[in-house]
Amino acid sequence: MIRIRVLDGYNVIGGNKILVEGEEGCILLDFGINFASWNNYFEEFISPRAGLIVKDLLKLKLLPRIDIYRSDLTGSLDLPKLSKEIIFAFLSHAHMDHMGLVGLLREDIPILSTTETLALIVALSEINSEEKSRLIVDSRFPGSYPVREDVLIKPNQKGNKNPIKRRLIYFGDNGVSSLPLSIEDIENYFEEMNVENSFQAGLVEAKVLPVYHSVIGSASLYFTLSGIRILYTGDFRDSPLPEEEKILLDIGENRLKLANSTREMINSTKGKVDVLIVEGTRTKESHSIITEAMLYNNIYEEVKKHRSKLIIADFPFRHLERFHTFLKVAEETDRQFVVLPKDYIILNTLAEINSDWDFRRYLGHIRVYHQGKGSWKGWENSLLQGKIFNNPPIKEILIKPSEIEKSPGSYILNIGYYELPNLLDFSYETLRGAIYIHSNSEAYTEDQNIDFLRLLRWLRYFNIEPKGVREKNGSLEFDRIYHASGHISPEGLEALIEEINPDIIVPVHTEFPDWFLKRWDKKVRLNSDIILY
Ligand SMILES: [Zn+2]
Repeated sequence: MIRIRVLDGYNVIGGNKILVEGEEGCILLDFGINFASWNNYFEEFISPRAGLIVKDLLKLKLLPRIDIYRSDLTGSLDLPKLSKEIIFAFLSHAHMDHMGLVGLLREDIPILSTTETLALIVALSEINSEEKSRLIVDSRFPGSYPVREDVLIKPNQKGNKNPIKRRLIYFGDNGVSSLPLSIEDIENYFEEMNVENSFQAGLVEAKVLPVYHSVIGSASLYFTLSGIRILYTGDFRDSPLPEEEKILLDIGENRLKLANSTREMINSTKGKVDVLIVEGTRTKESHSIITEAMLYNNIYEEVKKHRSKLIIADFPFRHLERFHTFLKVAEETDRQFVVLPKDYIILNTLAEINSDWDFRRYLGHIRVYHQGKGSWKGWENSLLQGKIFNNPPIKEILIKPSEIEKSPGSYILNIGYYELPNLLDFSYETLRGAIYIHSNSEAYTEDQNIDFLRLLRWLRYFNIEPKGVREKNGSLEFDRIYHASGHISPEGLEALIEEINPDIIVPVHTEFPDWFLKRWDKKVRLNSDIILY
């Protein structure tokens, strides 16, 4: 028997937490934040309380009530136990709506993922330092205050540290050595589990299959539990059409290889899937829009048009592919691409994992911005002092705003919404007529609308020309020519499901499950608790 519990992420986009229970044990698929319900209670300045986070989230029903959380965070809470142990938790990719709560999971639940995803989670959590998504954690203990004893405090002093050792299973070549951490930290915080041992101990047969999505390292999981073959897609997008393949190959062989990974996933599973757990983000759309291959040309044309102007590029950095698009454009238009120190750390980390993404072949075209701020986080400090990632020597590629001011048309500067204050480093003259390219998602929520209006206010103040987004009579318009969706088109999804031809379809990550019902009727299961076979 198989039981599939969609603990969260049902009839909504994001927040995937799916538990598959079989005779051998349970498998947890993703453990992300459901932003739709999260944002009902929290925003930037209202968060769950650090030492009480699990209790707080359970009370608000933002976490499933089962015994899967770090013991140091649950204390005396008595949560219902699972009938069988979790064999592993699979993280499909490093987006918050899929992995944003992984830091709360019990340390002895092995985490399975691609090396890229694990390294990204470690790097991002070190940069942003949020307890809920951190893989590296120090255990907390009850405070010794007269008022409340259940408030958990974190040891601050080095000697006091009480690391929690997590168990990691990698899919990929470079194992723990690719984590952006010192050997000492790796030894303190992680226990590496051998893929072969864990899968062949008779527990479960599983395959991590890379797919094409808007973050590097994304993957699907194909596994057999209680004799049932299950494919969990995670998030993914279409493989390129033949005419796009040529463009991708021109930008780089690694681009084509990555783009074809969805195709390969389908080829290796078609006709061999009993249960398909599949995303349906774009099922409400009636037509395909721009693809990753197409936007390269749009960005190139835009940059070429404005020879003497500074270009400001706004895109998510963990979407490494997009960075390589901009880097290629920088090379072709004879500019240098300027990244922030925190992003340079991500670039180096990913280049170490997979040499396909080594940016150093464009060395003459990459610089690291010397931000005008007075305090640096641990990693930024180590980077700027040449203690990590010092090849090429960081001193040689650091660039100050004053150098950019001498020739603004020679640079593309990567600044996103949260980095807007960096614009204050430049003179009005430098920024007047500069071009801001919005190569990022549109606004979907009211909060995001407010953020965009604020972004446009910054641009207006400095007379920077926005491309890809504008304000018209108080509302926002998006051009959709510099950004491609990370999700498969409805046409692509329909073809994929026909080709894989599963017996049972479980739609997740979608607001329109009826789309599936209309097409595959009896095969589709729309409950959040499904018992099969
Ligand atoms: Zn995603």
